[in-house]
Amino acid sequence: MSRFPAGQKPSTRAAQALGWIDPETGALVPPVHPAVQYERTAEGEPPGGRVYTRDQNPTYEQAEALLASLEVGQAAMLFSSGMAAATTVFDTLDVGDHVVAPEQMYWMLRRWLQDQAARERIALDLVPNGDMAALRAALRPGATKIVWAETPANPGGAVTDLAAAAAAAHEAGARLVVDNTLPTPVLCRPLEHGADLVMHSATKQLNGHSDVLAGALVTAREDDLWKRCRRERAFRGAVLGPFESWLLLRGMRTVCLRVGASARNAQRIAEALDGHPAVSAVLYPGLPGHPGHDVAARQMEGGFGAVVSLRMQGGADAARRVVRALRLFHNATSLGGVESLAEPRGQVEGPGSPVPDDLVRLSVGIEDAGDLVADLEQALDAVG
Ligand code: PLP
Repeated sequence: MSRFPAGQKPSTRAAQALGWIDPETGALVPPVHPAVQYERTAEGEPPGGRVYTRDQNPTYEQAEALLASLEVGQAAMLFSSGMAAATTVFDTLDVGDHVVAPEQMYWMLRRWLQDQAARERIALDLVPNGDMAALRAALRPGATKIVWAETPANPGGAVTDLAAAAAAAHEAGARLVVDNTLPTPVLCRPLEHGADLVMHSATKQLNGHSDVLAGALVTAREDDLWKRCRRERAFRGAVLGPFESWLLLRGMRTVCLRVGASARNAQRIAEALDGHPAVSAVLYPGLPGHPGHDVAARQMEGGFGAVVSLRMQGGADAARRVVRALRLFHNATSLGGVESLAEPRGQVEGPGSPVPDDLVRLSVGIEDAGDLVADLEQALDAVG
């Protein structure tokens, strides 16, 4: 499928989608394969090993191959959403297996894990993000099967040392699985730091245009865990449709440009608002004063991501008012698109969330940095 030479930079591999060219027509853009099934050969064999589209379709394979290449993994799998990808990993566990996850992580997944624990399907410990002593203390050698990490975490930007987490997990006989949605492989490749699996909400910056719901897993090795994930995907049919896979592949062709541009904008915004009288804290690992800055600088390259969170001096009310006063930033959920968004995230997550109700999450897009800073300053001045 790919005639791409080895050793090319990620931006080259992404822009050319691994250099794939349609063998029949010479088309540089791949076709979409909506077919549900594939005719068997005269000998009754499935052509190319494909039988049925619930987990086999060439349109998935192109996007999977590019993502695996960007994450420096052996293989990737697309899912119908980030949640479908994440829950598939946990569905490979046996009843009672132990999981260690961070307190601050994608809220819906934390809620799902807590629900699974309440129903005694798994045993769960949530530990403070980046606290290696707490992580080590929570591990139960032999019983802990998955250590979950998300760094920088959504929305507060807490940082976990991936190499240290991988070493601790492996010593206890567990796997380290990393939600790499916020950095994307452009800024951080957890498999290079010892992680076993990477998970993505490809809905965010991998696709980048806020028009596809998608998830992905990428593995360091095609081992037993990977085979079980593959089986789970086939059982559930939680795969991405061919049209969405095609859109995702198109989005990924510009991922390096978009991620770099929004990370530069985010850094500029974080620096501009740090010390603003209406803001009690700017949470962004790109700021030297952020507690995770040194670790983030070591394990990330080219920037610190598109999410900046602000804690408001004026509390929950100020968080609501500043979001409403913004003109360029849209008051909407999600993150990772080319357009900038803001929401009072603690209030959206509601009771039970560790995210404070004075926190405003910004998803920084690729607009002009000066325009974005000006919009934020006028809104903060309006709130006072
Ligand atoms: N992980 C992170 C960090 C997210 O921000 C999200 C969604 O916001 C998810 C996972 C879940 O992904 P999806 O919405 O594609 O199911």
